[in-house]
Amino acid sequence: MADAAADRTPAPRADACVVGAGPAGAIVAARLAEAGHDVVVLDAGPRFDLADREEQLDAHLRPGVEGLWGMGGERDAYATEGPRDYPLNAARVKGVGGSTLHWQGMVMRLHERDFAMRSRHGVGADWPLDYADLRPHYAEAERELGVAGADDNPFAPPREEPFPLPAFPPSHSDAIFAEACESLGLPTHSVPNARNSEPYDGASACVGYGTCKPVCPSGAKYTAERHVARAEAAGARVIDRAPVQRLVHDDAGERVEAAVYATPDGTEHRQDARAVVLACGGVENVRLLLLSASESYPDGLANSSGLVGRYFMDHCFAGAGGRIDRETRQNHVGFNTTECHALYDGTDPLPGVKLEFLNYAGPSPVTQALDADDWGDALLESLRESYGTHLAVGGLVEQFPDAENRITLDRSTTDDHGNPVPEVRWSIGQRTRAAIERANEVQVAILEELDAEIDWVVGPDATGPAFHHMGTTRMGTDPAESVVAPDCRTHDLDNLWIAGSSVFPTGGAMNPTLTIAALSCRLADRLDGWL
Ligand SMILES: Cc1cc2nc3c(=O)[nH]c(=O)nc-3n(C[C@H](O)[C@H](O)[C@H](O)COP(=O)(O)OP(=O)(O)OC[C@H]3O[C@@H](n4cnc5c(N)ncnc54)[C@H](O)[C@@H]3O)c2cc1C
Ligand code: SF4
Repeated sequence: MADAAADRTPAPRADACVVGAGPAGAIVAARLAEAGHDVVVLDAGPRFDLADREEQLDAHLRPGVEGLWGMGGERDAYATEGPRDYPLNAARVKGVGGSTLHWQGMVMRLHERDFAMRSRHGVGADWPLDYADLRPHYAEAERELGVAGADDNPFAPPREEPFPLPAFPPSHSDAIFAEACESLGLPTHSVPNARNSEPYDGASACVGYGTCKPVCPSGAKYTAERHVARAEAAGARVIDRAPVQRLVHDDAGERVEAAVYATPDGTEHRQDARAVVLACGGVENVRLLLLSASESYPDGLANSSGLVGRYFMDHCFAGAGGRIDRETRQNHVGFNTTECHALYDGTDPLPGVKLEFLNYAGPSPVTQALDADDWGDALLESLRESYGTHLAVGGLVEQFPDAENRITLDRSTTDDHGNPVPEVRWSIGQRTRAAIERANEVQVAILEELDAEIDWVVGPDATGPAFHHMGTTRMGTDPAESVVAPDCRTHDLDNLWIAGSSVFPTGGAMNPTLTIAALSCRLADRLDGWL
């Protein structure tokens, strides 16, 4: 990790202060710095040294070692309330690079239907943009993240040019699934992945460690550290271990003047800036706005609608797995290479569902060997017997926005700086439950087609989040119904912009980060013009 004693004093008044160095903030910072603006980035967490990645991989492979990225502890304290516990500390990383340090790296565009759920189906909300508005920015985002993909998905929205990198070939078990899916009338296709199938952007091609989530030692998997490096190369100042405590506005309450941040020695500093971009993820964006309450804004900044924190959404996991009488070679590939989006755009079920064919079903041989009680030939025999015949189909299911699912502050619990922690209230509605059941039916049918012995199904009672935090500072044209305008600038404060999935009015069932990156490219263009 980087030096605790580094210089963390503020720069003179910057053009833009970006709070958060995950993909949302890092892309904005890189593009603004490259356009010639003075940029300061503040991140709550540390920098992780690239030279330590192999050691992290080693630690990850040992059973019982968790939290490679320092997730949890007093700094990351949180509370949950309501029908379902939300495991927030498994769902985000505070550190330069943000949650992309730990992520899987699957990156799809949203579909046209996702931007118009209210007008098409009378549910959820419409985005104030449509797919055509975001389409050029999706292409930019694919270049920014170095996406490996192919034009073989009959359900994907229209695209104009090839992916920057060729798709990864389907894994051995994908081919097994493809046969079964074909007989059920479910076409399978490749997964766009933010990992290098060829050397790209200064990073090598994937070499198949298979430990992408939580760590890629080769650097082939995209992390936002790439954009942080680009921002710094273009002159931006990036300050780690600098959690922003609050934003301070001018007397008129029209503009944010500064971000007040703390440093490891306990000092508070003030970074003044002409514009502030909040990019702390879907939970901490809310917390910071609420922590910045003032006399003029007693309910928190940018909250004249009362909607800051409301409509918290995630994607729900549905899945089934079992064993077959064939070699499946699971755990040889650490990421998904095939999916099926055949259920996505239909109306039965109405929530979007995407099926994922996993490549990490069953225990890995390393985990199994380290956990085993036997040795030598006996161990080899038990490994041969149990390893390599597992299969699993996972999937993501859409949640529609519900105002009661929300992030607030738990004033009875504080973090290491004495600030109230975020409280997550999360529940799963009837439509989502029904869609999870529908996904399970299809997943079980696929496994039955393969004569699998099914040994687990994750349905609506056991489902959990996919760690995609969306919806809490939603975008819209009406200031009474939304927090940011279509350009991602808050309705209430002239120079406060929000990057990331907290602005999504609906979240579909596609992993969010490509859309986050596309919106960040768009935000950077708008802010460049404004500055
Ligand atoms: C296990 C896992 C797997 C995932 N897999 C995928 C996937 O396959 N595909 C996909 O699209 N998405 C995936 N995601 C989600 C993806 O990582 C997020 O969508 C993405 O990282 C969000 O980007 P962001 O920049 O908005 O926020 P983050 O990446 O969360 O970054 C926010 C940054 O803000 C900083 N911060 C927070 N509070 C403050 C503060 N007060 N002051 C200063 N800095 C602050 C944090 O330290 C952090 O660096 C996965 C996530 C996880 C956890
Ligand atoms: S398999 Fe995953 S961890 Fe290994 S090099 Fe490729 S992207 Fe990195």
